Amino acid sequence: MKYFPIFIKLDQNRVVVSGGGETAVAKLRLLLKSSTQIEVYSDTPSQVVEDWATKGLLTLNRRALTSSDVAGATLFYAADEDPKEAARTAAIARSEGVIVNVVDNLEASDFITPAIVDRDPVTIAIGTEGAAPVLARAIKAKIEEQLPPSLGMLARIGKHFRTQAAKLPQGLAQRKFWADYYFKHGPKLLNAQPEAAEAALDGLLKQHLNNAPAAGHVSFVGAGPGDPELLTLKARNELHEADVVIYDRLVSAPILELCRREALMIAVGKEGFGRSTSQEDINALLVEHARRGAQVVRLKGGDPTVFGRLDEEIDALEPVGISWHIVPGITAASASVAAIGQSLTKRGRNQTVRYLTAHDMQGFAEHDWRSLAREGEVTAVYMGKRAARFIQGRMLMHGAHPATSISIVENTSRPDQRILSTKLGQLEADLTKAQLSGPALVFLGLAPRMAQEQLQQEIAL
Ligand code: SAH
Repeated sequence: MKYFPIFIKLDQNRVVVSGGGETAVAKLRLLLKSSTQIEVYSDTPSQVVEDWATKGLLTLNRRALTSSDVAGATLFYAADEDPKEAARTAAIARSEGVIVNVVDNLEASDFITPAIVDRDPVTIAIGTEGAAPVLARAIKAKIEEQLPPSLGMLARIGKHFRTQAAKLPQGLAQRKFWADYYFKHGPKLLNAQPEAAEAALDGLLKQHLNNAPAAGHVSFVGAGPGDPELLTLKARNELHEADVVIYDRLVSAPILELCRREALMIAVGKEGFGRSTSQEDINALLVEHARRGAQVVRLKGGDPTVFGRLDEEIDALEPVGISWHIVPGITAASASVAAIGQSLTKRGRNQTVRYLTAHDMQGFAEHDWRSLAREGEVTAVYMGKRAARFIQGRMLMHGAHPATSISIVENTSRPDQRILSTKLGQLEADLTKAQLSGPALVFLGLAPRMAQEQLQQEIAL
């Protein structure tokens, strides 16, 4: 993030604009929405600027900007039609310690003006660091469509009510009250008189003050394989509501971004062989936070019910009476099979599919290798990277053909996804060569449907 978004308080401050032509008019139109004092310097102001000056909306100085004109201003816009003049006025402003925007000149500017969706007091600013103004405008149009014009009115009524609402305990209770107001009761009040709206808010507050404080709760939420678009809507809503999020190392950064900004984020990295938080510590964290009344999201990669040690965590909650529920996610096998364009089951090929882990508490895990080695069987191996040699040995020993197809999908659904296609006989050698560093799912008995390049292209699309 090269540009940091902030909102600057402008009332009772000055903004100085040099220029009075079309370029200046466009910026002035925006500035006039704010309650700032605007000073314009131009020896050839356009009629619109003259009119605004006559109406007292801005102060017009009919001359070119000179030194000390900008001193003490909050912002300066060099909106001169002539680039040389813009460079001169920008230099003056800068020498007076004021941050500068040279209109249509990103390189020469200290700040940029974003695309704005205005539902005053709700303001949404969209920036692309100058990379794609067209994109910013398209996003703006999309957001405009989604936010009803009445939103500003609701926010204004709500703002007056903030001190009263502070009677509710901070955190969840206040959030619930405001959610009730903005999404349930507020929109219905808009046609009423402002006094009626205030009275209704009073009623709503009383109702919330009488509510018993919410009990703590744990949601076991599946984060899917990494692509945030593969989250369920339910999972996304839970992330927006959470007070505490306890997440695994496998959960991708874009998904963590979706969590409520005030939520307490606790990483409990569990690596196959590496540094990790013990299961007892994770259990204790769940209990501790839920007991304090927090809405805890236990966020796990993929689906929490697949190799997720879910039961151990539930067993820690049950005896102390903490309520919980499960929100399923897309497991790595589902996302990975989609990545290679195949089905997990297929008529005439396999009626069953097995998900297995290559590790258990003792190390490499034993399975019914004879049945896995049969032709046509499909197996999704989790945590299989380091066990490749072991799996290969066991499968071959139990009669699998060395030409059995193998697909490996690393970092499924993430921007760095890789697909490896090999045969059982070469599994270990090819895996070592590929040097995979991310989580990977190994399919025994499945080849990618299409050539790899084509698959990668489809993903890029
Ligand atoms: N609950 C998870 C699995 C946890 S076990 C799920 O349902 O997907 C961890 C193993 O899952 C990893 O070793 C890897 O084999 C697989 N895995 C998880 N996320 C993956 C991803 N994005 N790409 C490939 N494999 C993944």
